[in-house]
This record gives sequence, structure tokens and C-alpha cells, in this order.
Amino acid sequence: MPLLQIAEPGQSAAPHQHRLAAGIDLGTTNSLVATVRSGVAETLPDAQGRHLLPSVVRFGAAAAPVVGYHAQAAALDDPLNTIASAKRLIGRGLAEVKQLGGRLPYVFVNPDAAVPRIHTAGGDLTPVEVSAEILKTLAQRAEDTLGGPLAGVVITVPAYFDDAQRQATKDAATLAGLKVFRLLSEPTAAAVAYGLDHADAGTAEGIHAIYDLGGGTFDISILRLTRGVYEVLAAGGDSALGGDDFDRLLAQWALEQASVNDGADHRTLRQAMQAACTAKEQLSSTPTADLVLNLPDGRHWSATLDRAAFEALIDPLIDRSLAACRRALRDARVRVPEVDAVVLVGGSTRIPRVRERVAALFGRPPLANIDPDRVVAIGAAIQADLLAGNRPGDNLLLLDVIPLSLGIETMGGLVERLIPRNSTIPVARAQTFTTFKDGQTAMAIHVLQGERDLVDDCRSLARFELRGIPPLVAGAARIQVSFEIDADGLLRVAASELTSGITARVEVKPSYGLTDGEIAAMLSDSRQHAGEDQLARRVREERVEAQRVLESLRAALTRDGDALLDTAERTRIEDAMTALAATLNSIDAKRIGDARRALEQACARYVERRMNHSIQSAMAGQRVDAFE
Ligand code: ADP
Ligand code: MG
Repeated sequence: MPLLQIAEPGQSAAPHQHRLAAGIDLGTTNSLVATVRSGVAETLPDAQGRHLLPSVVRFGAAAAPVVGYHAQAAALDDPLNTIASAKRLIGRGLAEVKQLGGRLPYVFVNPDAAVPRIHTAGGDLTPVEVSAEILKTLAQRAEDTLGGPLAGVVITVPAYFDDAQRQATKDAATLAGLKVFRLLSEPTAAAVAYGLDHADAGTAEGIHAIYDLGGGTFDISILRLTRGVYEVLAAGGDSALGGDDFDRLLAQWALEQASVNDGADHRTLRQAMQAACTAKEQLSSTPTADLVLNLPDGRHWSATLDRAAFEALIDPLIDRSLAACRRALRDARVRVPEVDAVVLVGGSTRIPRVRERVAALFGRPPLANIDPDRVVAIGAAIQADLLAGNRPGDNLLLLDVIPLSLGIETMGGLVERLIPRNSTIPVARAQTFTTFKDGQTAMAIHVLQGERDLVDDCRSLARFELRGIPPLVAGAARIQVSFEIDADGLLRVAASELTSGITARVEVKPSYGLTDGEIAAMLSDSRQHAGEDQLARRVREERVEAQRVLESLRAALTRDGDALLDTAERTRIEDAMTALAATLNSIDAKRIGDARRALEQACARYVERRMNHSIQSAMAGQRVDAFE
């Protein structure tokens, strides 16, 4: 009788059978797919031999969406239906999208929705759906090349991507029908591609700077690798600095030289941008490049640009990237000589001047022998191969860290941090909390992200409620809140009451987005405001303590105030309670504390009497010798 194969669908039954896996660099400007074949990681070309896929999708009314070079070519004639840079929008709310909005030509629909939708002839689309089209195209390319379905993929995301942006990227993969082994940070992937995580590279323990200058964004990450764990010491950059800016400068220069004044029409501008981009890329390998413009007045203008002139134009932009590097080093508390390796990533680091100046800043030649626009995809492919189980001998799993601390709101608008930033993932932590009021049967759990002490200064990720807590006196219930972050950096929060076992949980799908600038700002804020935060924390703590005293005193008075107090003493206590209540809105911690202590003094005798009383009633009915 034949035996049934018992294996998970999609998982091979034979342990050593090779499983197909791919790494995907889902970029703002260009995306790539790579895979490991015969032990070598390489990016996969399309039928025309092109490795890059422009991250552009055109949604027409009738046909299926068009992805890549064809879509990019249509952008000029059909700008509203041709979506570029979806990565800038993914996982972000409309408010943030509007902030970016000045530069985006698209029409956004139902502005009240949490997720922005772009109106196109092919329907109203979210950035997740646009990204899914890019992923589908790349996965198809991999499956065609490899000759079978992919068991899973590793997709890279910027180090600063928050939970919402990571979740949205994963959603796009799901939509594209892909299994995501995990998401990986782009700088980590670049380091993996260079084998910096392997002991034989001699740098297995060390500090790596990843300089990533792409089409529209610049990212600098300072990583520290210790025993297979990558820690992001600092992630900085400029979300509005990249190769497009070089094109713009060069196009402006050309239009000025051609005596086209400010009023150049859209078409002439696009033409100038395209000519500039071509000349720029050419200048990376030749000393001069020609620019040609066909102007609306019928003139043909042309000029030859040499490298020195181009470098003079772009130097101020390179300066900006280097300033961000210095800031990141400062944030990471790393001095230049402590950096063990510098890695170049992104098409714009092909520019010789960029390399020169990065080398000068770090005092060492950067690693650039892997094509800088393929290096991230290559690192992702290596991780995908590992996660697919194709490298049984290699069990070194790289770990990422979370970029911002996670915690919950406690009384008084304070944040209790459960998982500090830079914790390696996956990670799980739990902490026990208690109820604030007698008979409290529900508890609101508010999940927060950020480095500051006060709820208002952190970012709200999710709220949920734990209901059905058995009514007990304040402080008796034990509520365990647990945080669990999986390898993709996605958060699950659960709360359970330990005596009854009732549980509530959420998978955090946060209200969309933080910008990378905001993350950087939040981090530097927490440093600047440390003193201020401490003061604010003391005020809140005093407030909570005062409220707790008032609450329990009120409960006590209702229970036995009449029996144990005469009118004069009761009036004294109630006056002190009123005085304390009046300080609750004060921002002076000492004033609240003084009023609380005055109240505690006023009710000291009463409290003593209550204690005696409760001991007596506890003893009532017991034989005296039971207490001996
Ligand atoms: P992203 O990470 O934003 O998707 P890439 O890493 O693919 O972007 O970089 C795209 C940018 O690199 C574009 O601005 C492109 O013009 C620029 N680029 C590509 N090749 C060269 C080159 N040889 N010289 C200069 N710039 C280049
Ligand atoms: Mg990139």
C-alpha cells in the first residue's frame, strides 16, 4: 500500500530537495528580484536582458496593468493613470500623503478613509495594490527563470519603515499571492550581500555604515553586528534627496543655457529631465556628455557638459548627504575611525564624485564591487535561500531590531515601555498590571510607539479593551499584558486576567504612518526633552497617586465613614480631600504631593481605626488560640 506523503502544502517532503526562493528589492524608483543558483546569488533580467524594473504601474481602463519600462514611458502622456513611487505612500495615512502631495500629480478619492486611494482609469487603487503589481511581475520573472513556483520570498524595506509600512508591504505580497519568509532591512541586506555577517570576512563583529543614495531618497544606516545580530545604531537620511534632484539641477542648467525662461511647458520640462538623466548616467563612465533639446520654438539646442561642471552642480547636494552621515554617526555615538566597513547602495552611488566624497568622509574606500543598485536584492536572495532551508550547514540567522520602543499607556497619561528600541526581533515580553478602581471589570489597553515618557508625545498604534475582569478591590486583579514581535517586525498584543484566564488580543495594524523624518525627530526629541520629561513624569505620578488616595478614601467613607467618624473629623477629612482634588490639574508636582500628604495626615487616625476594626472582624468567630 502506498504511503501518503505527510508534508505541509508548499513544503517539500524530501528534506534536501531545493526549494525555490527569491529576494525582492521593492524600491521607490526601481525594483529587482534575485535568487541563489548553484551557490551564487544574482539578480534576474527580463526578456530584454534588463535587471531593473522601474517601480511604475499604469492602470488603463481595459487591459491589465502595465508594469515597468512601458509604464514609465507612458508617464508623460498619461500621468494620472501612471503611478510611480508608490513606496512613498505605502502604509501612510491621507494626512501624510497630502504633506507629500505637492509633488504628486494623482487624484486621491474618499479623503476621509484611513488608506488613501488613487483614482485611475483602472479603478481606485491603494498603494498596496500598486506595489502588489510590481511584486507579481518580479515573482513571475523568477518563476519563469527558475521553472517552478516560489516557496517564499524575502522583501526588503527601509530600516526606518514602521509597523504600518511593514504591514502594508506584507499585505502587498499577500495580494500578489506570495509567501513572505520575512521582511529584511535594506541596509542589513546590503551588508549580507558583502558577507559582512560571516566570520571569514574579518568584519563579523563590527560597525558598518550603509550609504544608500537612490532615485528620490537618501538613507544612511549605522549598523553594529555582534554574534549574528544586527543592531541599527542610527538610521538617518533625507527623504527628499536623490538622483532625481541631480536630474532637476542639470535640467535647470540646460534650460538656462538654452535661454528657455521660467515658462517652459510641461513637455519641455520632461524632455529636459530625461536628457539630464541620460547625461548624468553617462558622465559616471565618460568624461563628457551631450545634451540635446528640441525646443517648442523649433530650435534644436545642444551642449557638451564635462564632469567637472556636473560635479560643481551637484556638490551642494552631496554635502547634504554627508551632513546626514555626520548626524547619524553622532546619534550612534560612533567616531569615524570606529567604522569597519562602508557599503555603497543605490544607483546614484555610481557617480564617481559621490564615491570620492564618501571615501573622504570615512577615510577609507567604500565597498562597491557589487553593483550598487543590485546589492540589496542580492542580500535578500541570500537570506531567502537560507530561510527556504537550502543551506543546512548555515544556521546563522540574521536578526533585525525594532526602530522605536513599544509600550502601553498607564494611569496619568504615562507610557510604560515593554520593549525598548533596538531590541532584536523576534521578541516577546510581558508585564503584569493591576486595576485602579474597586470592582473594575474592564481595562483599556493603549499601545504606543516612541521614546518619550508621555502618551501625547508618542505615537498611538492601537487600542483595545479587556472585558470581564472579575470585580475585585483595586490592585487585586492581575492583568498580564504581553507583546510579541515576529521576525517581520509585526506586533501582536494580548492582555489576560490571570485568575480568570480571560484574554483579549490585537494584531496591531496601526493607524497609518510616521515619516522617517518624524522618527528621527522623535528620537532626537527624547534626548532633548529627557529633563523635561522627567518633570512631567513626576507630575503625572503625583496625580495618579493623589487620585488613588482619593478613590480609596471615598470607597472607605461610603463603607464605614458613618460608623467610625464623628462630624468634626469627617469634615476635616473632606476638606483635605477637596483641597487635594483642587490641585489635580496643577503642573506643580510638589503642590499635589503636599496636598496628598496633608490629606493622609488628616485621615491617619481614621485609617488606623479601620485597620483595627478589620482585624477585629477578621478575628470574630475564631478561637483566640488560633492567633497565638
Ligand atoms: P531606488 O532605491 O530609489 O529605487 P535606485 O537605487 O535604483 O533607486 O537608483 C535610481 C537612481 O540611480 C536614479 O536617479 C538613476 O538615474 C540613478 N543612476 C542609475 N545609474 C546611474 C549611473 N550610472 N550614474 C548616475 N546615476 C545613476
Ligand atoms: Mg533602493
